[in-house]
Amino acid sequence: MSDNLLLGPTCQSCGVALADKGDFGTNAAGAIHTDYCKFCYSKGEFVDPDITLEEMVKKSTEAITKKKGINAGKAEAMAERILPTLTRWQAKH
Ligand SMILES: [Zn+2]
Repeated sequence: MSDNLLLGPTCQSCGVALADKGDFGTNAAGAIHTDYCKFCYSKGEFVDPDITLEEMVKKSTEAITKKKGINAGKAEAMAERILPTLTRWQAKH
């Protein structure tokens, strides 16, 4: 099991791996937007535009815990390490 979520294309908002065409978000015209997943970005807008990095870390921790079957502490450490490096959160600084 790799704990590197940055292998391959990943959502630049939540860090999830984008493996399938159906995982990607869409732009205003409905075409695939390759930077973000469908849960973060839909029809040219962020699904949750006001979410903070801290809230995203929390959300991502839950997703990683479920998906990877690792404990919440380790999942949180991963989320805290990866999320601030993503495009969406870089722009905020
Ligand atoms: Zn996402």
